[in-house]
Amino acid sequence: MKLIHQKIHQIPKVELHSHLEGTIQPSLVKQIAKRNNIKLRDGLFTPQGGFAWDDFVTFLHAYDEVSSCLQFSKDYRDITYDYLKSCSLEGTIYAETFISPDHAAEMGMSYEDVLSGCAQGIDDAEREFGIIGRIIVTCVRHLGPKQAVRIAQLMVDEPHPYIVGFGMGGDESQYVASDFTPAFQIANDAGYPCTVHAGEVCGSESVWDAINHLPMISRIG
Ligand SMILES: [Zn+2]
Repeated sequence: MKLIHQKIHQIPKVELHSHLEGTIQPSLVKQIAKRNNIKLRDGLFTPQGGFAWDDFVTFLHAYDEVSSCLQFSKDYRDITYDYLKSCSLEGTIYAETFISPDHAAEMGMSYEDVLSGCAQGIDDAEREFGIIGRIIVTCVRHLGPKQAVRIAQLMVDEPHPYIVGFGMGGDESQYVASDFTPAFQIANDAGYPCTVHAGEVCGSESVWDAINHLPMISRIG
């Protein structure tokens, strides 16, 4: 078994689906919360030191609490760097991660600040570990089609060489895929490959909805 693990470890890998805020390790969130003077809830961690959650709802609570600690460009630099470093230690040579400008805006951060932090983390990780990191900008489905258009337009208006695509996450039970055609059209027209979350919560009909109504989508995750 050990040999197999070793061999798998040595195979060069790519990671194409991760949510940047979801990659934060407990030790890093503690560090960031401390320097940002944020008191973390006692129940956020298990006695073993992991994040405490036992179903999707408590998982989302933990996710939101961890994400709310991110308030500065440096925070995004550190989580990007830390994520890419851990990928690299597992043999990953290329990784794409989702960032949500809507979430950052909730914390009072500008899109520019988030991007510059992520880009710094990508540069630092590439310099130290050789891994290449890239970004997919996502809109949030349950925030509605109009906000999705704003995010797509923001991405197109403020291009960055590390942004390689446009996507959508969020609550799949809200709206139908075709409501988001205008947002995806903006990204597609500007030359960005598009991806969408489908089938995670609502099953195969959600996948078909995306395939049938969002023809510009080239990856479903
Ligand atoms: Zn996802």
